Amino acid sequence: MRALVTVVSLCFLSVQAQWTYSGDDGLGENEWSTEYPACGGQRQSPINLKKKEVKFNPSLGQLYLDNYGAEELEFPMTNNGHTVQITLPNTMYFTDSNGDVYIAEQMHFHWGGGSSGVSGSEHTIDGIRRAIEIHAVHFNSKYGSFDNAKNQPDGLAVLAALVEIDKYAENTYYSSFLDELSNIEFSGESTILHDTNIQNLLPEDTANYYTYEGSLTTPPCTENVRWFLFRDTVKLSETQVVKFENSIRNHHNETLHDGYRKTQPLGQRVVEANFPNSPENKWLLLPGTSTQPYEPDVPS
Ligand SMILES: [Zn+2]
Repeated sequence: MRALVTVVSLCFLSVQAQWTYSGDDGLGENEWSTEYPACGGQRQSPINLKKKEVKFNPSLGQLYLDNYGAEELEFPMTNNGHTVQITLPNTMYFTDSNGDVYIAEQMHFHWGGGSSGVSGSEHTIDGIRRAIEIHAVHFNSKYGSFDNAKNQPDGLAVLAALVEIDKYAENTYYSSFLDELSNIEFSGESTILHDTNIQNLLPEDTANYYTYEGSLTTPPCTENVRWFLFRDTVKLSETQVVKFENSIRNHHNETLHDGYRKTQPLGQRVVEANFPNSPENKWLLLPGTSTQPYEPDVPS
C-alpha cells in the first residue's frame, strides 16, 4: 500500500511540477513553456516600456473605476506560496474608453528583496525596476465569471501600479495590510483584511495610463490580458517595503523574495498611452503640425 501511495504521489509530482522564478526546487521561468506553452508566446508580459516609443492615442479616454473606494468591507487575503492575494468583490469594476466593463477578481503583488535588493516590479519603464508592483486582476463582464473569461481571447484585464520608495514617508493606507501579513506568514494561510479601502492602495491619479495587449505573468501565461499600467505610482516608506519583503514564506518555507518575471520581448506590439509623453512634445500631436523637430526660422 505504501509503495502504491509513493508511486501515485510521484506521478502527481511529475505532471504538476511546481513553477518558481529561480528554478530551485521547481520549474524555473526559462522552463515554464515546457509545461505551459503559452509562456513561450509572442505577446507575453511583463515588458519594458520605452517612453519614447509609447504612442499617445488621443481617442483613449480615462478609466472609470466604480466602488473601489468602499469602506468597511472585509477582504479574504491568502499567502498562496507565490504572492499575497486579496480577493476583491465583484461590486468593484471599471469601464474602459471602449465601454468594456471589467469586474474585479483579486489583487496581488510582486516584490524583490533578494539579489536585486528592493527592486521587484515586473514592468520596467526605460529600464528602471521599481520596488513593488500591484496587479488588480479583472475579467470581462460579458463572460459573467472569471472561470468563464479566463480562456477567452478578450477575457482579462489587469490594472497595474508601480510602488516607489519615498524613504521616510509612511503610507498609512497600507498599515492594516502590512500588519495582517504576519498572520499569513506560511504558504496556504489565510486571513481577513479589515480597515482597508482598495482605492487608497492604488495611485492617487488613476486617470493616466499606458496600455498594451499581453498575458498573465505567471503560468499558464494566457495571452488574453489587456494591461493598464498607471502612470502615477504608489509611495511606501523604505521601512514598509522592507517589512513587506520579509513577511511571507513560500512553499519551501523560505522567505519569498524576487517574485517577479523577467521582461519579455515587445515584438510587433505597440504600447499606447492616453496622455502625451511630455508637455514639450505636445505640439507634435496637433493636427497639421510637422512631425519634424521644431527649428526656429533664423534669417541667414
Ligand atoms: Zn501579477
